Amino acid sequence: MIIAIDGPAGSGKSTVAKLLAEKLGFAYLDTGAMYRAVAWRALELGLDLSVDLDADPTLIAIATNEPIRFAYKEGEALPSEVYIADKDVTREIRFPETDLAVSPVSAALGVRKALIAQQQRIGALQNTVMEGRDIGTVVFPDAELKIFLTASPEVRADRRFKQNIERFGENAPLSRDEILADIVRRDKYDSERAHSPLVPAADALTLDTSDMSIEEVVNWIANEAS
Ligand code: C5P
Repeated sequence: MIIAIDGPAGSGKSTVAKLLAEKLGFAYLDTGAMYRAVAWRALELGLDLSVDLDADPTLIAIATNEPIRFAYKEGEALPSEVYIADKDVTREIRFPETDLAVSPVSAALGVRKALIAQQQRIGALQNTVMEGRDIGTVVFPDAELKIFLTASPEVRADRRFKQNIERFGENAPLSRDEILADIVRRDKYDSERAHSPLVPAADALTLDTSDMSIEEVVNWIANEAS
């Protein structure tokens, strides 16, 4: 069974998807981390991201040939470390430079084709909670349960800010207002792109989580899954 969880940046997808996977004993796949890993590698190689990237051979080679690996931290039930080209990029993929690079990289058709194929292979192996932007529309259009999570941009910025403090400590790289600006920018870019735009699947259940706790959201989805 595939549970597809889509939605805009900061809608709580990762937190909710992880807890849901643990609760149901499902595997978990963060597809945003895959796009972020490719974007990080493109930055490392110094690619010009301001041009049309749809058929960029270097970018396609990264997405096709450089395996993205998820690894477990000791004692954790779900994988939280991300590797590409054998380098641990768990922290780097959350840096502001990667936030900026990931929109053009993930809009490139060649990248999407390569990563979607990997996501479909992974999801075919076992029951999986998969989160992203296009899981219910493109990656698994036949997913048994499709959830589209939303929340107001302000609530989403607050959540991301808290998450960054947890990740990076008091030296978190962005202020709450910078995060809000990044969220609004990425929502617009992701919604208006030609391939796999951010839209709810016709048969998705949309849930506005602005006034819900994480636990309420997880229980709501688990109830729909049973
Ligand atoms: O989920 P997260 O915010 O980490 O995703 C980072 C970026 O990756 C998104 O802004 C979007 O551009 C891209 N993405 C995508 N398709 C997915 C998941 C993420 O295009 N399935």
